[in-house]
Amino acid sequence: MLAQAITRFIAANKYPHFAPKAFFFDMDGVLFNSMPRHAKAWVETMRQIGIEFSEYDAFLNEGQTGRRIIDIFIRKAFGRPSTVEEQEKYYRLKSDLFDAGGAPEPIPGVAEVLNALKNAGMQIFVVTGSGQASLLGKLEHSFPGIFQKEKMVTAHDVRHGKPDPEPYLMALQKAGVQPWEGVVIENAPLGVQSGHAAKLFTVGVNTGILRPEDLQDAGADIVLKNMHELLDELQRNSIV
Ligand code: CA
Repeated sequence: MLAQAITRFIAANKYPHFAPKAFFFDMDGVLFNSMPRHAKAWVETMRQIGIEFSEYDAFLNEGQTGRRIIDIFIRKAFGRPSTVEEQEKYYRLKSDLFDAGGAPEPIPGVAEVLNALKNAGMQIFVVTGSGQASLLGKLEHSFPGIFQKEKMVTAHDVRHGKPDPEPYLMALQKAGVQPWEGVVIENAPLGVQSGHAAKLFTVGVNTGILRPEDLQDAGADIVLKNMHELLDELQRNSIV
């Protein structure tokens, strides 16, 4: 499955070959199982505004800023733009609801993928729209010895977030590798669009409640069910 996807990817981009040296991991829904809680917090926030909103809507919109999500759905429900006060108030509410749940657990199987890549000598980056100050500490706590400060692209580094290609283009530059030497691991349509627009091989790992087509249609080169399937494919193709 991965082998065919790689062949299609090389042909579509007219690359000389594909030889991975760097892996670019998204964070929410890829490293940490934080999406179910984000989704529940969004559903409750929208309920308080009086807007019908499902957990599926939250997964589809993952990667938009909170203020933008509030604006999109207020426009849809009430036919008017949101006010800055509404954006601030409801984003604070959503953040408080999310924080009340404590620290999210790692995605099952992702630690094994990270360790296998590290042992194979791959560079490992985190590329996230999150701007939390404690990010590196949190990563080090859950995945000791894997991530480094200089191998991160966060909200503080980019002008345009996903789905713009900028975050992944910056990661590529920091890694010092060619586009046919980098791999993106994403779980959300906007993140997949970003990796695809950067012309990188983009793996959609469907760790949430989306349909596989949601990631396929966003431009994923391959869609996998979980991290165990990813590790299998990497081993079968002698990448790790
Ligand atoms: Ca994500």
